[in-house]
Amino acid sequence: MTNIQGAYGYQLNAPSTPLQLCELPILNPGPEEVVVQVAGCGVCHTDIGFAFDGVPTRHPLPLILGHEISGRVVVAGENVGSWLGRCVIVPAVIPCGTCPACLAGRPTICQKQFMPGNDGNGGFASHVLVPSRGLCAVPDPLPFGVNLEVLSVIADAVTTPYEAIRRSGLGSEDVAVIVGAGGVGGFGVQIAAALGAAVVAIDVDRERLDLASRHGAGLVLDASSTDLKGLKVAVRTFSKESARKGIGLKIFEMSGTPAGQTTAFGLLDHGAYLGVVGFAPKTAELRFSNLMAFDATARGNWGCPPDQYPAALQLVLEGKIALAPYIELHALEEAPAILEAVARHAVRKRVILHPNHREGKHRLEALK
Ligand SMILES: [Zn+2]
Ligand SMILES: [Zn+2]
Repeated sequence: MTNIQGAYGYQLNAPSTPLQLCELPILNPGPEEVVVQVAGCGVCHTDIGFAFDGVPTRHPLPLILGHEISGRVVVAGENVGSWLGRCVIVPAVIPCGTCPACLAGRPTICQKQFMPGNDGNGGFASHVLVPSRGLCAVPDPLPFGVNLEVLSVIADAVTTPYEAIRRSGLGSEDVAVIVGAGGVGGFGVQIAAALGAAVVAIDVDRERLDLASRHGAGLVLDASSTDLKGLKVAVRTFSKESARKGIGLKIFEMSGTPAGQTTAFGLLDHGAYLGVVGFAPKTAELRFSNLMAFDATARGNWGCPPDQYPAALQLVLEGKIALAPYIELHALEEAPAILEAVARHAVRKRVILHPNHREGKHRLEALK
Protein backbone atom coordinates (compact mmCIF):
# COMPACT_ATOMS: atom_id res chain seq x y z
CA MET A 1 0.00 0.00 0.00
CA THR A 2 1.50 3.36 -1.01
CA ASN A 3 -1.35 5.68 -0.15
CA ILE A 4 -4.56 5.85 1.88
CA GLN A 5 -8.00 6.66 0.52
CA GLY A 6 -11.21 7.25 2.46
CA ALA A 7 -9.48 8.65 5.53
CA TYR A 8 -11.63 11.06 7.49
CA GLY A 9 -11.33 13.61 10.20
CA TYR A 10 -13.11 16.42 12.02
CA GLN A 11 -12.02 19.80 10.75
CA LEU A 12 -12.37 23.34 12.02
CA ASN A 13 -13.83 25.52 9.25
CA ALA A 14 -13.96 28.78 11.21
CA PRO A 15 -13.40 29.77 14.86
CA SER A 16 -16.34 29.11 17.19
CA THR A 17 -18.12 26.76 14.80
CA PRO A 18 -18.52 23.03 15.50
CA LEU A 19 -15.93 20.67 14.03
CA GLN A 20 -17.19 19.02 10.87
CA LEU A 21 -16.70 15.52 9.51
CA CYS A 22 -14.71 15.58 6.29
CA GLU A 23 -12.96 13.19 3.97
CA LEU A 24 -9.20 13.70 3.73
CA PRO A 25 -7.50 14.01 0.37
CA ILE A 26 -5.58 10.87 -0.64
CA LEU A 27 -2.68 10.53 1.79
CA ASN A 28 0.48 9.92 -0.17
CA PRO A 29 3.63 10.30 1.96
CA GLY A 30 6.78 11.92 0.62
CA PRO A 31 10.13 10.06 0.88
CA GLU A 32 10.64 11.01 4.56
CA GLU A 33 6.98 10.95 5.65
CA VAL A 34 4.61 8.35 7.04
CA VAL A 35 0.86 7.87 7.36
CA VAL A 36 -0.18 6.96 10.90
CA GLN A 37 -3.48 5.20 11.52
CA VAL A 38 -4.58 7.08 14.61
CA ALA A 39 -5.19 5.03 17.77
CA GLY A 40 -5.83 8.05 19.97
CA CYS A 41 -5.45 11.82 20.02
CA GLY A 42 -5.55 13.89 23.19
CA VAL A 43 -7.55 17.11 23.38
CA CYS A 44 -5.36 19.96 24.61
CA HIS A 45 -6.23 23.49 25.70
CA THR A 46 -4.31 24.70 22.67
CA ASP A 47 -7.00 23.04 20.52
CA ILE A 48 -9.65 24.89 22.52
CA GLY A 49 -7.75 28.14 21.89
CA PHE A 50 -7.81 27.48 18.14
CA ALA A 51 -11.44 26.33 18.07
CA PHE A 52 -13.07 28.87 20.36
CA ASP A 53 -10.75 31.68 21.44
CA GLY A 54 -9.67 32.96 18.05
CA VAL A 55 -6.03 31.81 18.40
CA PRO A 56 -4.94 31.47 14.75
CA THR A 57 -3.52 28.20 13.47
CA ARG A 58 -0.32 28.62 11.44
CA HIS A 59 -1.89 26.71 8.54
CA PRO A 60 -5.04 28.51 7.38
CA LEU A 61 -8.46 26.98 8.13
CA PRO A 62 -10.08 24.62 7.39
CA LEU A 63 -7.79 22.38 9.38
CA ILE A 64 -8.04 19.17 11.38
CA LEU A 65 -6.80 19.93 14.90
CA GLY A 66 -5.08 17.58 17.37
CA HIS A 67 -1.39 17.24 18.25
CA GLU A 68 -1.28 14.45 20.86
CA ILE A 69 -1.21 11.44 18.59
CA SER A 70 -0.44 7.76 18.93
CA GLY A 71 -1.04 5.09 16.33
CA ARG A 72 0.45 2.66 13.89
CA VAL A 73 2.41 3.49 10.73
CA VAL A 74 0.42 2.07 7.81
CA VAL A 75 2.27 3.72 4.90
CA ALA A 76 5.92 4.77 4.93
CA GLY A 77 7.81 6.95 2.44
CA GLU A 78 10.54 5.36 0.33
CA ASN A 79 13.42 6.43 2.59
CA VAL A 80 11.76 5.48 5.88
CA GLY A 81 10.37 2.00 5.21
CA SER A 82 11.66 0.69 8.53
CA TRP A 83 8.77 2.49 10.27
CA LEU A 84 6.11 0.47 8.46
CA GLY A 85 3.84 -1.41 10.85
CA ARG A 86 5.37 0.11 13.97
CA CYS A 87 3.43 1.63 16.84
CA VAL A 88 4.46 5.22 17.50
CA ILE A 89 3.85 8.41 19.41
CA VAL A 90 4.00 11.46 17.13
CA PRO A 91 5.79 14.35 18.85
CA ALA A 92 3.62 17.45 19.26
CA VAL A 93 6.47 19.58 17.91
CA ILE A 94 8.62 18.06 15.16
CA PRO A 95 11.77 20.15 14.53
CA CYS A 96 13.33 20.36 11.05
CA GLY A 97 16.72 19.09 12.22
CA THR A 98 18.79 21.32 9.92
CA CYS A 99 18.16 24.99 10.81
CA PRO A 100 20.54 27.05 13.03
CA ALA A 101 18.33 26.50 16.12
CA CYS A 102 18.21 22.73 15.57
CA LEU A 103 21.97 22.58 14.93
CA ALA A 104 22.55 24.63 18.09
CA GLY A 105 20.69 22.02 20.16
CA ARG A 106 17.54 24.14 20.57
CA PRO A 107 15.06 22.12 18.50
CA THR A 108 12.00 23.37 20.39
CA ILE A 109 12.49 26.86 18.95
CA CYS A 110 12.94 25.58 15.38
CA GLN A 111 11.11 28.02 13.13
CA LYS A 112 10.52 25.31 10.54
CA GLN A 113 8.96 22.91 13.04
CA PHE A 114 5.86 20.91 12.15
CA MET A 115 3.08 20.72 14.69
CA PRO A 116 0.20 18.46 13.64
CA GLY A 117 -3.12 20.27 13.96
CA ASN A 118 -1.37 23.64 13.58
CA ASP A 119 1.03 23.48 10.61
CA GLY A 120 -1.02 20.80 8.86
CA ASN A 121 -3.88 18.39 9.47
CA GLY A 122 -3.73 16.79 12.92
CA GLY A 123 -4.95 13.78 14.83
CA PHE A 124 -8.72 14.27 15.21
CA ALA A 125 -8.84 11.90 12.28
CA SER A 126 -8.62 8.27 11.24
CA HIS A 127 -5.18 8.88 9.71
CA VAL A 128 -2.55 11.60 9.76
CA LEU A 129 0.38 12.35 7.46
CA VAL A 130 3.50 13.39 9.41
CA PRO A 131 7.28 13.61 9.00
CA SER A 132 8.98 10.43 10.23
CA ARG A 133 11.66 12.49 11.95
CA GLY A 134 11.36 12.28 15.72
CA LEU A 135 8.71 9.55 15.87
CA CYS A 136 8.86 7.75 19.19
CA ALA A 137 8.66 3.97 18.81
CA VAL A 138 6.35 2.19 21.22
CA PRO A 139 6.96 -1.46 22.16
CA ASP A 140 4.61 -3.92 20.51
CA PRO A 141 3.02 -5.71 22.25
CA LEU A 142 2.64 -3.24 25.11
CA PRO A 143 2.92 -4.26 28.76
CA PHE A 144 -0.30 -5.61 30.28
CA GLY A 145 -2.81 -2.85 31.03
CA VAL A 146 -1.29 -0.23 28.70
CA ASN A 147 -3.18 0.71 25.52
CA LEU A 148 -1.73 2.50 22.53
CA GLU A 149 -4.53 5.09 22.44
CA VAL A 150 -3.87 6.11 26.02
CA LEU A 151 -0.18 6.74 25.25
CA SER A 152 -1.21 9.61 22.95
CA VAL A 153 -1.16 12.04 25.90
CA ILE A 154 2.58 11.49 26.23
CA ALA A 155 2.87 13.85 23.25
CA ASP A 156 2.54 17.18 25.07
CA ALA A 157 0.59 16.49 28.29
CA VAL A 158 3.38 14.29 29.68
CA THR A 159 6.47 15.36 27.71
CA THR A 160 6.01 19.11 28.13
CA PRO A 161 6.09 18.97 31.96
CA TYR A 162 8.78 16.27 31.66
CA GLU A 163 11.00 18.66 29.70
CA ALA A 164 10.30 21.56 32.09
CA ILE A 165 11.30 19.37 35.04
CA ARG A 166 14.32 17.89 33.24
CA ARG A 167 15.65 21.37 32.42
CA SER A 168 15.43 22.36 36.08
CA GLY A 169 17.80 19.53 37.01
CA LEU A 170 15.31 18.30 39.62
CA GLY A 171 16.59 15.41 41.70
CA SER A 172 16.04 13.54 44.92
CA GLU A 173 17.49 16.36 47.07
CA ASP A 174 14.92 18.86 45.83
CA VAL A 175 11.49 20.08 46.79
CA ALA A 176 9.22 20.54 43.76
CA VAL A 177 6.13 22.72 43.89
CA ILE A 178 3.61 22.06 41.13
CA VAL A 179 1.05 24.84 40.72
CA GLY A 180 -2.00 23.46 38.92
CA ALA A 181 -2.58 19.71 39.29
CA GLY A 182 -4.92 19.23 36.33
CA GLY A 183 -4.42 17.62 32.93
CA VAL A 184 -0.75 18.58 32.73
CA GLY A 185 0.20 19.26 36.36
CA GLY A 186 -1.16 15.88 37.46
CA PHE A 187 1.55 14.31 35.31
CA GLY A 188 4.05 16.93 36.53
CA VAL A 189 3.46 15.79 40.13
CA GLN A 190 4.14 12.18 39.15
CA ILE A 191 7.25 13.00 37.10
CA ALA A 192 8.75 15.03 39.96
CA ALA A 193 7.98 12.20 42.40
CA ALA A 194 9.47 9.63 39.99
CA LEU A 195 12.70 11.64 40.02
CA GLY A 196 12.75 11.34 43.80
CA ALA A 197 11.83 14.90 44.76
CA ALA A 198 9.55 15.81 47.65
CA VAL A 199 6.46 17.20 45.91
CA VAL A 200 3.93 19.87 46.84
CA ALA A 201 0.80 20.21 44.66
CA ILE A 202 -1.23 23.42 44.71
CA ASP A 203 -4.65 23.72 43.07
CA VAL A 204 -8.09 25.20 43.68
CA ASP A 205 -9.89 21.91 43.07
CA ARG A 206 -10.25 19.44 45.92
CA GLU A 207 -10.69 16.42 43.64
CA ARG A 208 -7.50 17.16 41.76
CA LEU A 209 -5.62 17.59 45.02
CA ASP A 210 -6.93 14.26 46.34
CA LEU A 211 -5.74 12.60 43.13
CA ALA A 212 -2.34 14.31 43.44
CA SER A 213 -1.95 13.06 47.01
CA ARG A 214 -2.59 9.51 45.82
CA HIS A 215 -0.09 9.91 42.96
CA GLY A 216 3.10 11.41 44.30
CA ALA A 217 2.39 14.62 46.21
CA GLY A 218 3.64 14.66 49.80
CA LEU A 219 1.66 17.82 50.51
CA VAL A 220 -1.40 19.25 48.77
CA LEU A 221 -2.55 22.83 49.29
CA ASP A 222 -5.88 24.35 48.33
CA ALA A 223 -5.23 27.84 46.98
CA SER A 224 -8.96 28.64 47.06
CA SER A 225 -8.90 28.64 50.86
CA THR A 226 -5.26 29.55 51.62
CA ASP A 227 -3.66 32.89 50.76
CA LEU A 228 -0.11 33.29 49.45
CA LYS A 229 1.26 33.85 52.93
CA GLY A 230 -0.35 30.64 54.17
CA LEU A 231 0.95 28.72 51.14
CA LYS A 232 4.48 30.02 51.77
CA VAL A 233 4.41 28.95 55.42
CA ALA A 234 3.08 25.49 54.54
CA VAL A 235 5.69 24.97 51.80
CA ARG A 236 8.49 26.13 54.09
CA THR A 237 7.40 23.76 56.87
CA PHE A 238 7.12 20.88 54.41
CA SER A 239 10.59 21.65 53.01
CA LYS A 240 12.08 21.63 56.47
CA GLU A 241 10.41 18.35 57.39
CA SER A 242 11.41 16.64 54.16
CA ALA A 243 15.07 17.52 54.94
CA ARG A 244 16.30 17.75 51.34
CA LYS A 245 19.70 19.30 50.76
CA GLY A 246 18.80 21.08 47.50
CA ILE A 247 19.09 24.86 47.52
CA GLY A 248 15.98 26.76 46.49
CA LEU A 249 12.53 25.50 45.58
CA LYS A 250 11.85 24.18 42.10
CA ILE A 251 8.47 25.63 41.22
CA PHE A 252 6.49 24.72 38.10
CA GLU A 253 3.54 26.75 36.84
CA MET A 254 1.24 24.24 35.15
CA SER A 255 -2.18 25.83 35.67
CA GLY A 256 -2.07 28.20 32.72
CA THR A 257 -3.98 30.84 34.69
CA PRO A 258 -2.92 34.33 35.80
CA ALA A 259 -3.84 33.35 39.39
CA GLY A 260 -1.58 30.29 39.22
CA GLN A 261 1.21 32.34 37.68
CA THR A 262 0.95 34.92 40.45
CA THR A 263 1.05 32.17 43.07
CA ALA A 264 4.02 30.40 41.46
CA PHE A 265 6.00 33.63 41.19
CA GLY A 266 5.03 34.61 44.73
CA LEU A 267 6.55 31.38 46.09
CA LEU A 268 10.05 32.21 44.82
CA ASP A 269 12.70 32.06 47.51
CA HIS A 270 16.51 32.29 47.52
CA GLY A 271 17.99 30.40 44.58
CA ALA A 272 14.56 29.25 43.40
CA TYR A 273 13.83 28.00 39.91
CA LEU A 274 10.55 28.71 38.15
CA GLY A 275 9.55 26.59 35.16
CA VAL A 276 6.62 27.91 33.13
CA VAL A 277 4.55 25.30 31.32
CA GLY A 278 0.97 26.57 31.35
CA PHE A 279 -0.24 29.10 28.81
CA ALA A 280 -2.62 31.91 29.79
CA PRO A 281 -3.65 34.47 27.16
CA LYS A 282 -4.22 37.05 29.92
CA THR A 283 -1.40 38.86 31.71
CA ALA A 284 -0.47 38.57 35.37
CA GLU A 285 0.97 41.40 37.45
CA LEU A 286 4.33 40.39 38.95
CA ARG A 287 7.21 42.14 40.70
CA PHE A 288 10.05 41.12 38.40
CA SER A 289 12.68 42.40 40.83
CA ASN A 290 11.99 39.32 42.96
CA LEU A 291 14.09 37.38 40.45
CA MET A 292 17.00 39.66 41.26
CA ALA A 293 16.37 39.83 44.99
CA PHE A 294 16.21 36.02 45.29
CA ASP A 295 18.90 35.32 42.67
CA ALA A 296 16.20 33.18 41.09
CA THR A 297 15.79 31.71 37.62
CA ALA A 298 12.65 31.66 35.46
CA ARG A 299 12.45 29.59 32.30
CA GLY A 300 9.84 28.38 29.86
CA ASN A 301 9.77 25.59 27.32
CA TRP A 302 7.80 25.16 24.12
CA GLY A 303 7.08 21.45 24.15
CA CYS A 304 9.80 18.86 24.36
CA PRO A 305 12.53 17.74 21.95
CA PRO A 306 11.64 14.39 20.34
CA ASP A 307 14.83 12.81 21.71
CA GLN A 308 13.39 13.10 25.25
CA TYR A 309 10.19 11.19 24.41
CA PRO A 310 11.63 7.70 24.99
CA ALA A 311 12.64 8.59 28.57
CA ALA A 312 9.17 9.98 29.32
CA LEU A 313 7.55 6.92 27.72
CA GLN A 314 9.76 4.70 29.86
CA LEU A 315 8.40 6.28 33.08
CA VAL A 316 4.89 5.42 31.88
CA LEU A 317 5.79 1.87 30.88
CA GLU A 318 7.45 1.32 34.26
CA GLY A 319 4.24 2.44 35.97
CA LYS A 320 5.88 5.52 37.51
CA ILE A 321 3.40 7.78 35.74
CA ALA A 322 -0.22 6.60 35.89
CA LEU A 323 -2.21 7.91 32.94
CA ALA A 324 -5.57 6.20 33.51
CA PRO A 325 -6.79 8.25 36.52
CA TYR A 326 -6.25 11.48 34.55
CA ILE A 327 -7.91 10.68 31.24
CA GLU A 328 -11.21 9.69 29.71
CA LEU A 329 -11.70 8.05 26.34
CA HIS A 330 -14.30 9.16 23.82
CA ALA A 331 -15.05 8.08 20.28
CA LEU A 332 -13.61 10.42 17.66
CA GLU A 333 -17.15 10.68 16.29
CA GLU A 334 -18.05 12.66 19.44
CA ALA A 335 -15.35 15.25 18.65
CA PRO A 336 -17.64 18.26 17.94
CA ALA A 337 -19.58 17.84 21.21
CA ILE A 338 -16.55 16.90 23.28
CA LEU A 339 -14.54 19.95 22.22
CA GLU A 340 -17.40 22.21 23.27
CA ALA A 341 -17.70 20.37 26.58
CA VAL A 342 -13.96 20.77 27.24
CA ALA A 343 -14.23 24.48 26.38
CA ARG A 344 -17.11 24.82 28.90
CA HIS A 345 -14.96 23.05 31.53
CA ALA A 346 -17.67 20.39 31.66
CA VAL A 347 -15.06 17.60 31.32
CA ARG A 348 -12.74 17.21 34.27
CA LYS A 349 -10.16 14.87 32.81
CA ARG A 350 -7.93 14.92 29.75
CA VAL A 351 -9.95 13.62 26.83
CA ILE A 352 -8.55 11.17 24.31
CA LEU A 353 -10.47 10.76 21.06
CA HIS A 354 -10.11 7.37 19.45
CA PRO A 355 -11.48 6.61 16.02
CA ASN A 356 -13.87 3.75 15.50
CA HIS A 357 -12.68 3.12 11.97
CA ARG A 358 -15.85 1.29 10.85
CA GLU A 359 -18.32 3.77 12.40
CA GLY A 360 -16.43 6.71 10.86
CA LYS A 361 -16.58 5.19 7.38
CA HIS A 362 -20.35 4.72 7.72
CA ARG A 363 -20.83 8.34 8.68
CA LEU A 364 -18.65 9.45 5.79
CA GLU A 365 -20.72 7.37 3.34
CA ALA A 366 -23.91 8.90 4.74
CA LEU A 367 -22.55 12.38 3.98
CA LYS A 368 -22.10 11.61 0.29
ZN1 LIG B 1 -1.03 20.82 23.58
ZN1 LIG C 1 14.99 23.42 12.75
